Amino acid sequence: MRIRMDIEKMHFTGPIWRPPYEAGSVLLQATVGCTHHRCKFCSLYPGIEFRVSPMSEIVSDLEIIRHYQPRARRVFLTGANPFALSFDRLKELAMTVHDYLPRCRIGTFSRISDIKNKTVEQLKELRSYGFNGLSIGTETGDDMTLAEMNKGNTAQDTFEQCRKLEEAGIEYYIVYLTGLAGKGNGRRNALASAKLFSRLKPYIISVVSLTLFPGSELYGDVANGNYTVSPEHERLEELMTFIGNLENRTTLLADTVSNPVPINGFLPEDKNRILAELRKMRENIGEAELQTYRRNIRSL
Ligand code: SF4
Repeated sequence: MRIRMDIEKMHFTGPIWRPPYEAGSVLLQATVGCTHHRCKFCSLYPGIEFRVSPMSEIVSDLEIIRHYQPRARRVFLTGANPFALSFDRLKELAMTVHDYLPRCRIGTFSRISDIKNKTVEQLKELRSYGFNGLSIGTETGDDMTLAEMNKGNTAQDTFEQCRKLEEAGIEYYIVYLTGLAGKGNGRRNALASAKLFSRLKPYIISVVSLTLFPGSELYGDVANGNYTVSPEHERLEELMTFIGNLENRTTLLADTVSNPVPINGFLPEDKNRILAELRKMRENIGEAELQTYRRNIRSL
């Protein structure tokens, strides 16, 4: 009973998203909504204005967390991109987290633009305050798709900002979104993305497949004929092209609900196995069955 009352006292606003690999982390709201809020395919924070959590709310939530998990090792800051906060604010946030949970590492979502306004020296300092493991919705390395989807950055921006994280010693996880370029463009999207990602050193590459919900601009574009969704078999070909051209040593996770059959492994060791599994899927599961699967996804 007390647990329930305490959880209800925590300051979560709107939908809470976290990556699957942060399942073991304690969640702490640092911001609400997204500073950008313009990606065409996104319906994650509908109608929610960006807001920074006041320190009083953060302290109150940390008191509750400390009561139940005094030895928590990792906090994941919720909100679409808390790393948009200034260097000073992030520093203050980290210090406050450590007042309550001294051994905690801190993860969060970040946009590429959130890294841009921080120097490598500041990033190094943030690393020393516990920030490590930024999840970045890079989505694609294809400039045409980035522009069409209003992502707000170019492939070169992704390259430059991720290299800054590498220089600062901050691990990061990036996302590839299959199908985003639309019907007929999967191969172009895969090749450009593999080329960009291969120049980086992400700790994890997470693969998600485009799944549209009412509320996103792209959902409306499909309805009025301005965008044609990529067929499922094309997405599988795209994913094979993407993985086949990746040169990274990294973990590949394609196991969210948006991936009809979960795939994961370490690259390059598991590349051939993964490609064989995808090929088998392409041969054995029909387009209609895969489309039915996607239509039945209710939430990511
Ligand atoms: S995809 Fe991420 S950055 Fe883009 S609008 Fe949605 S939450 Fe914001």
